[in-house]
Amino acid sequence: MPNFMMSHPLTLTQILEHAYRIHADKQVTTLLPNGTLHRYDYATLYERVQSLANALSQLGVQCGDRIATYASNTYQHLELYYAIPCLGAVLHPLNVRLSPVQLTQIIHEAEDKLVFVDSAYAVQFQALQDKIDSIRPVYFGPKSTDTDPCYEQLLSEAEPAYTWDIGDENSPMGLCYTSGTHGEPRGVLYTHRSMYLHTLAANQADVFGLTEADVVLPIVPMFHAMAWGLPYASMFTGADIVLPGAKPSSIATLIADTGVTVAAGVPTVWAAAYPEFRKRRADISTLRRLIVGGEAMPPSLIEVYEKELGVEICHAWGMTEMSPTGTLSKLRAVHQNLTDTEKWRIKAKQGRPIPGVELRLAAETTDGFKELPWDGKTVGELQVRSPWTANRYYKIERTPEHFTTDGWLRTGDLATIDVEGYVQIVDRAKALIRSGGESISSVALETALLKHPDVCEAAVVGIPDEKWGERPVAVVVCTEKTSENISDILRQQLASEFPKFWIPDTFIFVDKIPKTSVGKSDKRSILAQLIGTQNPTKKLNIQPSRKEIEIC
Ligand code: AMP
Repeated sequence: MPNFMMSHPLTLTQILEHAYRIHADKQVTTLLPNGTLHRYDYATLYERVQSLANALSQLGVQCGDRIATYASNTYQHLELYYAIPCLGAVLHPLNVRLSPVQLTQIIHEAEDKLVFVDSAYAVQFQALQDKIDSIRPVYFGPKSTDTDPCYEQLLSEAEPAYTWDIGDENSPMGLCYTSGTHGEPRGVLYTHRSMYLHTLAANQADVFGLTEADVVLPIVPMFHAMAWGLPYASMFTGADIVLPGAKPSSIATLIADTGVTVAAGVPTVWAAAYPEFRKRRADISTLRRLIVGGEAMPPSLIEVYEKELGVEICHAWGMTEMSPTGTLSKLRAVHQNLTDTEKWRIKAKQGRPIPGVELRLAAETTDGFKELPWDGKTVGELQVRSPWTANRYYKIERTPEHFTTDGWLRTGDLATIDVEGYVQIVDRAKALIRSGGESISSVALETALLKHPDVCEAAVVGIPDEKWGERPVAVVVCTEKTSENISDILRQQLASEFPKFWIPDTFIFVDKIPKTSVGKSDKRSILAQLIGTQNPTKKLNIQPSRKEIEIC
């Protein structure tokens, strides 16, 4: 049979054109470093994106060229999010929190042609510049030298109109490196098609559920898995966008000033914001939903947001490799009559696959992988496939360590899946603690510790132990008013939930927990510091006094 349907390529130019024609008056607001708000509408953004595309062409940018950004969440960065891919080049947002050594490797591997540098990071960028001197910087702010072009000047000198011409929906549009939490960063090359389909999936009512009436605040950095696709999802739907710049001094003030309805970020951001949100309830009254992911959202935090602040938590799981959304935890209609505690327990799971994503729970056997049952008990490796999941890494051969021969991505996450399809991450395969031949889930212990009202943050790691192989150590941040015998209290609390051998031998109380470049607990660093302490076995086998070992 012949195909009688149009073969209309799925490209980001369609998202940009739709946003301009249908939602031209919608607003993009950016918090500037001086605390003032910069505002313009989609029509102005569109005109600037066209000029930018001409300016990039003038600078010699061609289809397929990688163009890096070293920038925070601002309107200029949003313009680059559209101009670079719509011109046919590849947007490569650099993670500004990676070390100069990691960034140099990444930039050389990507062979970036230009790098756009935010004023907020111009000084920090100098440490990198002499290592990548073949790559031309373009500064958002005033020129640093006579030879480096400056962003606004490029735009003002460029032709205003540009005709988009992306014929092939499988052309690459973006390159994001994994955050390097579990090994060296690896590049993921998205296509127009994969990002377009991810955008449609993200915009379903039961996924992020954005509408034209929303005001969306991505706190998640634009270098972390394309800001979870929100710059594209928001503009396709016609929502207003609020960009927080490099360091918003108060998220509550930004919400109050701009009427944010949906905000997105890792759990740490929302744990830190909660005390202020609690005091300033009237100021955050427009906020209806938080999109949270990157790490498990503890049920205790879900509860205070939903019950006390009336903000719905949309807990999602995904990976840079998945553009990034994979699953989302929402209650089903049949759950409406459950008790609150049962509801938070379900919402704290990583959720069910969003339409378009296929999951399987697998165990490795001598001849491939065996599928495990969805019974909520059996633990296996979570494997995924979807139109927006990578099937290899950029410039790295496809290896069985990351991809199966029958076409699935090995996530490296250990999980259960229940009969309703809810995934619960037990641990990263590499973070699972093996003690006396048995497994201990660091995630389960952290979640349990966070139930205590005096515990603000918790990370559990396994340290080497001569007798047991590994033993858990809990690193905890407490409130100031915590009682002296808090470690005994926490021990008792855990003992009511877990077998005796799960209880950490040691509790270490610290002021803050080290974070990775995308704001997750940095267990590799914690472990290195614990093992690096002189004579760790001796030190860690005794009950340490408060703040005995400072981590960070
Ligand atoms: P990244 O590519 O930096 O976004 O990291 C992806 C990894 O973060 C996943 O493989 C998980 O280990 C972890 N992750 C992401 N979202 C969640 C979540 N909601 N709960 C637990 N772990 C998560």
